[in-house]
Amino acid sequence: MVLAIVSVLALSAGRQPPWPEHVGPETGTAEEAVARVLDLIAGGEWAEVTDLVTTRHGLDQPAMARLLQLALEPPGDLERWAITGSEPGDPVLVTIVCQFSRVPRVTLQLEAFAAAEGWRVGHVFPPLALPSVNWLVAATERLQLRVWPGHRGDLDSLVRLGEQGFDQALGPLLAGDEPLPGWASVPVTVYVFESKQQLGAAAHRPPSARLLGTTYANAVLMVSSAERSDQSFYQLLVHELNHLLLWRYARARDPAPAAIPAWLSEGMAGLAAGQLEGRRREDFFRSQPSLSRVLGLPTPGDLAEAFNTSPVAGHWRQWTYEYAFALAEYLTMRHGPDALRRLVDMIGDGLSSAGALVELTGVTVEELTLDWHGWLLRRMPGS
Ligand SMILES: [Zn+2]
Repeated sequence: MVLAIVSVLALSAGRQPPWPEHVGPETGTAEEAVARVLDLIAGGEWAEVTDLVTTRHGLDQPAMARLLQLALEPPGDLERWAITGSEPGDPVLVTIVCQFSRVPRVTLQLEAFAAAEGWRVGHVFPPLALPSVNWLVAATERLQLRVWPGHRGDLDSLVRLGEQGFDQALGPLLAGDEPLPGWASVPVTVYVFESKQQLGAAAHRPPSARLLGTTYANAVLMVSSAERSDQSFYQLLVHELNHLLLWRYARARDPAPAAIPAWLSEGMAGLAAGQLEGRRREDFFRSQPSLSRVLGLPTPGDLAEAFNTSPVAGHWRQWTYEYAFALAEYLTMRHGPDALRRLVDMIGDGLSSAGALVELTGVTVEELTLDWHGWLLRRMPGS
């Protein structure tokens, strides 16, 4: 994301439309929080910025502030800025135009989150780079749909199945008897692109064969069903919605939530979407080493590592997602349908992910790993 911002900054240099009109922030609004953070950034008061930011994707607060600083360092000192608009949602997206000492003009967005003690500010990033095409538009109760022209079938299937997908994505995050929390009904915008290249370009990411879907601020971006993939269009939707909702869930419990390990968030998303099924499940089984090589299977710790660093040694590394889905399925089968949410809660309350696994299962991580591997080698029975 940092690199993306730098490249956008480079591209934006040289054009000089008139300085935009500043939308004056009203007291108690997201815009006011953003204005406060921008004042601090302009003054170089990074220690105080740290107190106002919240985290995303597994970073603690100081790390998040450093990331913000890194993103905003290459263009130089922030000399002038204006808030030009904001988009309601969870998070609220506040659009700003900035003038830096080395870059005359760039448009950025900041996420603002409502917390009990007031607004907090999260990631800064360039706005989605949406091409000007005639998006096919529709809406369901909780989804704003924007589908690439020519893909009417995808729009129809999102209209037909979108709400069901939302519920399915929400499932692992709800406790049965509690009323529906507010964050669970804030709408999400879903963009469907014709190709991975278009999706990557809109999200400021390099094209990648594996990039079929992603979340971006308060939106889900996915490729059309015309792109051949080993998972269905519907599974992709549920997977990405679950990522977005997990983040809202964690933030509702704590405005600066602890990092959720990727094996757990990917595992939950994959399980919610039913992605380790059919052909993919069979291929996964065929990849398993024979019983005598059982020690070659990943531990939960290996998996956590595999999502952070690549490439990772081990024959299993091209199956990282499948192992995460399988671990999620195993934990849910052994310890109840809310097992993953309880892990998220325990990590949110300060336990390490290993500590949370011990607390959930009542055995050591070694014992748990051995039992999980045995279950994998028996082809995941009872599921
Ligand atoms: Zn994912």
